[in-house]
Amino acid sequence: TAPAQLRNFSIIAHIDHGKSTLADRMLQITGVVDQRAMRAQYLDRMDIERERGITIKSQAVRMPWAVDGVQHALNMIDTPGHVDFTYEVSRSLAACEGAVLLVDASQGIEAQTLANLYLAMEGDLEIVPVLNKIDLPAAQPEKYAEELAGLVGCDPADVLRVSGKTGEGVSELLDRIVARVPAPVGDPDAPARAMIFDSVYDTYRGVVTYVRVVDGRLEPRQKIAMMSTKATHELLEIGVSSPEPAPSKGLGVGEVGYLITGVKDVRQSRVGDTVTGAQRPATQDLGGYRDPKPMVFSGLFPIDGSEYPVLRDALDRLKLNDAALQYEPETSVALGFGFRVGFLGLLHLEIVRERLEREFDLDLIATAPSVVYEVRMDDGDVVTVTNPSEFPEGKVKEVREPVVKATVLAPSDFIGAVMELCQSRRGELQGMDYLSPERVELRYTLPLAEIVFDFFDQLKSRTRGYASLDYEPTGDQAADLVKVDVLLQGEKVDAFSAIVHKDKAYPYGLMMAGRLQKLIPRQQFEVPVQAAIGARVIARETVRAIRKDVLSKCYGGDITRKRKLLEKQKEGKKRMKMVGRVEVPQEAFIAALSSD
Ligand code: GDP
Ligand code: MG
Repeated sequence: TAPAQLRNFSIIAHIDHGKSTLADRMLQITGVVDQRAMRAQYLDRMDIERERGITIKSQAVRMPWAVDGVQHALNMIDTPGHVDFTYEVSRSLAACEGAVLLVDASQGIEAQTLANLYLAMEGDLEIVPVLNKIDLPAAQPEKYAEELAGLVGCDPADVLRVSGKTGEGVSELLDRIVARVPAPVGDPDAPARAMIFDSVYDTYRGVVTYVRVVDGRLEPRQKIAMMSTKATHELLEIGVSSPEPAPSKGLGVGEVGYLITGVKDVRQSRVGDTVTGAQRPATQDLGGYRDPKPMVFSGLFPIDGSEYPVLRDALDRLKLNDAALQYEPETSVALGFGFRVGFLGLLHLEIVRERLEREFDLDLIATAPSVVYEVRMDDGDVVTVTNPSEFPEGKVKEVREPVVKATVLAPSDFIGAVMELCQSRRGELQGMDYLSPERVELRYTLPLAEIVFDFFDQLKSRTRGYASLDYEPTGDQAADLVKVDVLLQGEKVDAFSAIVHKDKAYPYGLMMAGRLQKLIPRQQFEVPVQAAIGARVIARETVRAIRKDVLSKCYGGDITRKRKLLEKQKEGKKRMKMVGRVEVPQEAFIAALSSD
C-alpha cells in the first residue's frame, strides 16, 4: 500500500474505558474478523489478559477501510494500559501518527488518560478525542465532552461519541481516523530502518517481531541487523496481521507488520531497537531504545522444595517472551532454594507469579516485594541492594531509595483523604489542579517502596473507588532507612528482613515478632522471637517451652491413633526448617509471609 493510503493509529485509554472492546468492533466492522470467529477481546490472546480484562502485550492489526471509494489500510496498534508497561505504550505510540483518546462517558478523564495523552503528545501524534460507552444509562456525554475538549484543546462538538459495545459511531470514527491522522512519511530509497514495538515468543514460529518501517524496504530472505547489538539474522518471513498472520513480499515506508528470523528469545529482538538491512545498513538508529530495568524484586520459592528445577525451567521459558524478566538463584534459611526475581512493577510481579502457578502448575511463596536501594558506606563503597537480607554490614553513610512522580485524579470531595494517605506514605505535594469544579489532579513525589505496599488498594478504599493513580520513576533520594531483622533465639530468619523507614521500624518489628510468635510451634525450650536493628532489639515475644512429647497425650489410647500421630509427625519433619536449634515447619514461615 502506498504511504498516502496508510494510517497508523493507537487507541489509548485509562484501564477499563473500553479499548479492547472498541478494537473488537473495528475488526468486525472492517470485516477482518467474521461474526463466527469473533470472541470478546479478540486481541487479548493470553488467558490472564482475557480473565483480568487487561491488555499486557501490544498487538497490531491491519484493516481495510474505504473512504469515498478510495481503499485505505488502517494499522491499529493496541497498547497495554497499565503503568508497569509504560515503556511498551510509548514504543507502540512511536509507530503511529495518530491516537484515538478514548474516555468512558460515565467516568470521565482518569489518571492514565492523562499519562497516555502526555505520551502521545510527546510523540507529536494527532489526537482523536472520543467518548465511549454512550449506550450506558449513566453516561454523561455533554459533561465529559466538555472536559475532554478542554484537555485536548478542541471544540466539544468535535468529540466523537461511540459505543464499542453496540458499534454505534464506530464507522464514523474510522472515517475520522482517515481524515485526521496524517499519512506516514519516509524515504523509500534510504537504507531500511524499522522500529520494533513488540516482540512475542511463539512456540511454533519462534520470536515474532512487530515492526513499523520508517525508511526503505524489508523483504523476505534479506539479511537484517539489529542496530543495538549489530547481530544479524535472515528474514525468514515478513507479513501483516489482519489479524491472522499473512506473509507478504515485503514491507515499505510507513507499513506495520511482523517479521520472523528464527531467534528463540525476545531479548534478541527487543522492543525499541531498530532493524536495518545488513548489506546497506543505516547509520543512525531511530532512537528510544532502552534496556528494561526492574523496579521491584521478590524472592520466589517453590513450597515443595523438589519443584525447584521445575521453577527454574519455567522461568527460562517465560523469559523467552519477557525481555524485562530477570532472575538469579537465591537460597533462604526459611524457604530453601528459589530465585530472586526482578519485575517492572507489582502488576508485572503478579502476572509472572500467576503464569508460573497456572501454566507450570507450581505452588509458590513470594517474599515481600522490595525496591532497589543504593547504600553508601562510610568507606566510600556503594552497594546496590535488591534483597534486604543482603544489606551491607558496617557503617552506613546514606541510603538512597527510588522515588516516583505520582498523579492522583479524584473527585474534589476526596482531596483530604488523598492528602492524608500520601502524607502517611512520606509523599510531598508538588501541585494541584482542578480539571473541573468536581475533579482534581494532585501531583506528589512518593517513595516507590511506599506505593509497592497496598497504596493503590488504600487509595481506592479511601475514595470509594473514585480515585485513579499513575506514576513514573523520577530517580532516587536519600532517606532515613534502616534494616529490621527478625531473629529466632538470636538467629536471623533471612526471608523476614526488611528495609523500612525509621518511623516504621518499630511497628514492623512488633508486627512480625507477634505474627511469628503465634505461628511457631512450642519447642522443648523457650524461644525468644525478636526484631532488631543491627544489635539493638526493638521488639520481643516469647514462644513458651513444652515438656510433654507428642505421644504423652495418647497413653492408654489405641495404637492406630498413636501410629497416625507418628506418621503425621514424620510427614511434618520433611518440611521442617532449622533456624539455629529451633525447628519450624515451613508452613509457619509461609503463613507469616502471606498474612496481611
Ligand atoms: P480496556 O481495559 O480499555 O481494554 O477495556 P475493555 O474493552 O476490556 O472494557 C472494559 C469493560 O467495559 C468491559 O466489561 C466491557 O464489556 C465494557 N465496555 C466496553 N465498551 C463498552 C461500551 O461501549 N458500552 C458498555 N456498556 N460497556 C462497555
Ligand atoms: Mg484491554
